[in-house]
Amino acid sequence: MTPAAGPPRLRVGVIGGGIAGLTAAYRFAQRGHQVTLWERGPRLGGQAAAFPVLDTAIEYFYHHLFMSDHDIVQLMNEIGIGDDLIWLPSPVGFFADGKIYPLSGAFDLLRLGCVPLIDRLRIGFTTLYLQKLRNWRHFEQVTAAEWLRRAVGQRAFDRVWGAQLRAKFGPRYDQVAMVWFWNKIYLRTQSRPSLLAKEKLGYIRGSFNTLIDRLAEVIAEQGATIKVGVGTDRLERRGNEWLVRTSEGEEVTCDVIVATVPSPILAKLFPDLPEDYKAKLTGAVYQAAVTMLLQTTRSLSHIYWLNIGDPSVPFTGIIEHTNFIGPEHYQGRHFIYVSKYVEHDHPYLTTPDDQLFAEYVPYLQRINPAFSPDWVEQYWVFREYAAQPIITKNYSARIPEHRTPLPGLYLANTAQIYPEDRGTNYSVRIGNVVADLVEQDLRSGLLRPGSPAPAGGS
Ligand SMILES: Cc1cc2nc3c(=O)[nH]c(=O)nc-3n(C[C@H](O)[C@H](O)[C@H](O)COP(=O)(O)OP(=O)(O)OC[C@H]3O[C@@H](n4cnc5c(N)ncnc54)[C@H](O)[C@@H]3O)c2cc1C
Repeated sequence: MTPAAGPPRLRVGVIGGGIAGLTAAYRFAQRGHQVTLWERGPRLGGQAAAFPVLDTAIEYFYHHLFMSDHDIVQLMNEIGIGDDLIWLPSPVGFFADGKIYPLSGAFDLLRLGCVPLIDRLRIGFTTLYLQKLRNWRHFEQVTAAEWLRRAVGQRAFDRVWGAQLRAKFGPRYDQVAMVWFWNKIYLRTQSRPSLLAKEKLGYIRGSFNTLIDRLAEVIAEQGATIKVGVGTDRLERRGNEWLVRTSEGEEVTCDVIVATVPSPILAKLFPDLPEDYKAKLTGAVYQAAVTMLLQTTRSLSHIYWLNIGDPSVPFTGIIEHTNFIGPEHYQGRHFIYVSKYVEHDHPYLTTPDDQLFAEYVPYLQRINPAFSPDWVEQYWVFREYAAQPIITKNYSARIPEHRTPLPGLYLANTAQIYPEDRGTNYSVRIGNVVADLVEQDLRSGLLRPGSPAPAGGS
């Protein structure tokens, strides 16, 4: 692409090759800037990446899209892979009292026998109210636990929504703001063609790597440089420029740095950030994810997304991927994620994989008494520390700005996504936003290239 006439080109360094970093890098390259992207991990894609299995690929962590995910759909269309997006029914269930209750719509809710009818009705009316509500601002000052207890009563809260909050946020369950919960209910409605219809969710043919690989391709076509397996170790301000030292010992000079790393990592990379901004970064708290993926010869249940409402079960949910994308895509094998969110000092972050598997087996047998470890051909355990930012009360006041106080340093990470919950769609959105912001700062003269890059790519 020929760079557009206009402001001089910038040398842009993007830290992180997840969806946010790739989107930002694509936008900068499209606008003719000279881009280098560094990804510390062994492959691009960050939390959304997939790894090879059985002649195809599957995500390290289960992934789907909601029908409200317009930014990512638009990006996929733009880069020519819109046809790879498929929308499929995604049966939801709730496990309580040793039983799986289907929970894919209003009729299922009426049959949710683990709570009395009056509680089901209260949950139903509250769900309807939350689905209709657009003005989420007054939910900023109340926790989900406070608001939901009032709305559905203590018993229904403890058995259903409270159980889910506890399963995901552990001891911090009562700190989560109602905004977060409202958004979860609201988004799921968006994925239903009508109120009574069942949900459909989106998946990308060939896994999310189809998007990640195509993005890498279009970025490279615009002349940008992508370095995989290379981290940024030290960044120093030299006059009007940033000097980046990589883990390979290379030194690269940039006018602009866009970091997509978790907030506490940014605070460590840039110790000179002013204290008030740094406090926003170090104040960000994330739940970690410990996800076990089983490759089996048989299916565990008929549900795709099974929420666990039984507090004695040690995991948060079971996501049977092959009840969404059929086993015919995986040589007849079934893929089942056992999901667990934990605090950063939780033993599951260091428990040996075989020990965790042995610990889970009796609980998998509670979900399906026929389940046997013999069904399992392979299993993997994946861990991610910055899996889920915890959205607490008055969160909007604590979000670090995309434009940091240091000149030429911008941030686009999952802790800035609000009021929506983090997700690949919103990483695309913040990648777009930060690229637009840099362009705006360049045009207004706030950003000046130290030494303009030569025209025609790097
Ligand atoms: C268990 C789980 C399930 C999920 N399910 C869904 C889902 O169903 N649908 C959905 O849309 N989203 C889902 N998500 C969320 C989604 O994957 C993330 O929100 C999104 O991928 C985040 O992208 P990102 O680019 O903002 O951050 P990341 O993917 O975290 O990317 C940041 C990158 O920066 C790199 N990095 C860090 N430090 C450095 C450094 N110094 N130098 C260079 N590189 C560095 C990291 O290696 C990483 O690749 C899920 C996430 C998890 C954990």
